[in-house]
Amino acid sequence: MADELLRERYVRVLEGIDQACRAAGRFRSEVRLVAVSKLHPYALVGEAAGLGQTDFGESYVQEALQKRQDLAADPALASLAQNIRWHMIGHVQSRKAALVAGAFCLVHSLDSRKLADALEKALARPDAGQKGRQGVLLEVNVGQEPQKAGVMCEDLAPLADHVREHCPHLEIQGLMCLPPVFDAGDAARPYFSRLRELRDGLRARLGLPLPELSMGMSGDFAAAVAEGATLVRIGTDIFGQRPARG
Ligand SMILES: *Cc1c(COP(=O)(O)O)cnc(C)c1O
Repeated sequence: MADELLRERYVRVLEGIDQACRAAGRFRSEVRLVAVSKLHPYALVGEAAGLGQTDFGESYVQEALQKRQDLAADPALASLAQNIRWHMIGHVQSRKAALVAGAFCLVHSLDSRKLADALEKALARPDAGQKGRQGVLLEVNVGQEPQKAGVMCEDLAPLADHVREHCPHLEIQGLMCLPPVFDAGDAARPYFSRLRELRDGLRARLGLPLPELSMGMSGDFAAAVAEGATLVRIGTDIFGQRPARG
């Protein structure tokens, strides 16, 4: 993509977030933009980082790790790459937990005991040393859709209890959702509101601050910000259409 086009899109997204914060009476500092770079080449991440973007979201484990290696190996981008905060926003199979544990600043998609146990196991290994604790969000299937990732609403509290009791290396920082409606703006708002209510309930139950609500994408982030989003995950509006997954 031409530098100028990326810059234009990026500035427009930042303005959109500013505007959504103003409309919601929130401070801009309460909302962090996660630029979703999945399926885009590492050079594009480098360009966005050059514009000042620091948080990037990836959905596929191997792709994400490869992209980071490529960035670090590119002499022109390596120093920029050091400051990037990587987020895992896609579904993680528990057999890939060891690759994910400690490699992302935040895993948005914890949705099962099996994955929690696998992450815990990887982090508790004696050689995991410096990895420390892994920040996680619990992904909730707010639309209660059968085929979709995320815990059903009624399974949220049991999953949170499990993590608290059995996974000392995982730190629950909040909740994440993908509503059943896409690019539908205000139609998604009741789902965002539901996620906030679930967070408030869980906060009381666990006695943890749970500051993060990861919700809102290109087509609906204003509604998410109005409902309290602290992390908005935006891909298409910044980088354009994604190439097909090969
Ligand atoms: C791809 C993806 C996004 C970004 O979607 P856009 O519509 O391109 O903004 C956000 N969240 C998750 C979980 C995704 O997989």
